[in-house]
Amino acid sequence: MRPMKISLREWDARHAELTAAGLAEPSYGGPLSRHAAGGDRRLLKLAFDNSAAALRLWNFLLTEEERLAAARAAGMKIVGAMKDLGTVPVMAYSFPATVAFYPDGAWWLPCFKELSTDLFAIADGLGIDDSFCPVRAMLGAFVSGAHFPRPDLLVASTGATCDDFSAIAQRLQGLGVPILWWEAPHRRPPDPGEEGVELPGGLAAPRAQVEFVRGELVRVREALGALAGTAIDDAALAAGIRAANEIRTVLADLREGVFATPAAPLPSLEMLVAEMLALHFCSDRAEALAVLRDLRDEARARAAAGEGVLPADAVRVFWVNPVADLRVMNLLEDCGGRVCGTEYMICHALDLIPEDVPPMEALARMVLADPMAGSAADRVRRILRDAQRFGAEGLIVSRIPGASHCAWEGAVIAEAAAAAGLPAVEIEVPPVADALRPALRTRIEALVETCRAGGGRAKEEGVGA
Ligand code: SF4
Repeated sequence: MRPMKISLREWDARHAELTAAGLAEPSYGGPLSRHAAGGDRRLLKLAFDNSAAALRLWNFLLTEEERLAAARAAGMKIVGAMKDLGTVPVMAYSFPATVAFYPDGAWWLPCFKELSTDLFAIADGLGIDDSFCPVRAMLGAFVSGAHFPRPDLLVASTGATCDDFSAIAQRLQGLGVPILWWEAPHRRPPDPGEEGVELPGGLAAPRAQVEFVRGELVRVREALGALAGTAIDDAALAAGIRAANEIRTVLADLREGVFATPAAPLPSLEMLVAEMLALHFCSDRAEALAVLRDLRDEARARAAAGEGVLPADAVRVFWVNPVADLRVMNLLEDCGGRVCGTEYMICHALDLIPEDVPPMEALARMVLADPMAGSAADRVRRILRDAQRFGAEGLIVSRIPGASHCAWEGAVIAEAAAAAGLPAVEIEVPPVADALRPALRTRIEALVETCRAGGGRAKEEGVGA
């Protein structure tokens, strides 16, 4: 079947067809519509890629709760890693019989459930109302206990993190949920004459900051060891870093292959989900690698055949921040655009972790490379550099309702892009954006039309950095 996007209902027929043709699925495989029947109603409104690789991706994503329950039943230790997005899970998976997940992922539950759960109501009742970002759903998920098991160890980074998350995690601790806090300082460039250290992503930080974070991570490592009942040596941690880098390498191949190919071998929605696997491997590191390899191979095969899911002239858009409502990724493509590069606030989880320095220092460098741990100017430089590298014609900043960092940073990013000759628009996307769909469509179509009319000079002249 040629590459195309299909509905959930069409996926049922496609699944039967693939199964009849001998598709061998992993244990979590099966028709996608069962997830909608189980409460993930947003799936009924999404358009999906029709490949077996995409089927595996969605089934993997949507069975994480079952995986965590199975891990608990098997006696494995479960670590909840909050906010750092990419570091603590690398450490946790280096220990035997330990899995890590991000309770922050509850961010998307109101979308998947189309607001049919009481997660926001619980948060409201605890004083965390909609002046906070949708990550407040995490508080409701902890209290209800309905979406993930209570972790054996809950770890949270603080310091250079957003106010929303700190306040919500503090509220959680106030409810009697113990949290191991560790601090990530605000990244600054080395002063003149001060020893500096190169970070992933082309950044730099003072040696003193790297040493400070390394010390904080040592505390986390010791807590993980106490939980697992055994310490690990640097060789085991280095092996964990290599395994994470293997996943990041496959993901980088996938992103480069899809973003650089004119006809978009895979849709923006599946690419967004694929990026999220890098954070904590969706609670199964080996399977995450297999899922990403399948996607990469599918994208390569389609590109080699000159096939894709979108017209070759779809306008190339660089997307900033993840969307609270996944359906908006479909909307971009309905409006004649496509994603050709992303900055979902997780670039430090996509960049390779250094393997030529001691592992604890490597992880500390990664922490400091977090785009949200430094200045907005650093973030803008990276965005413009990547937008140029991927040949973006336009840029969308997707604001997150209530998010403390979105109030002004989004405008700064959009203005910097426009000043560099890249037409840009800011939109705000709530967890279910159907009521705003006409307005969002108008704004996205306006950007696409501006780009088609030759509004961007980024490709010809280069931007930023
Ligand atoms: S405010 Fe932004 S950085 Fe903070 S939890 Fe929400 S989305 Fe994440």
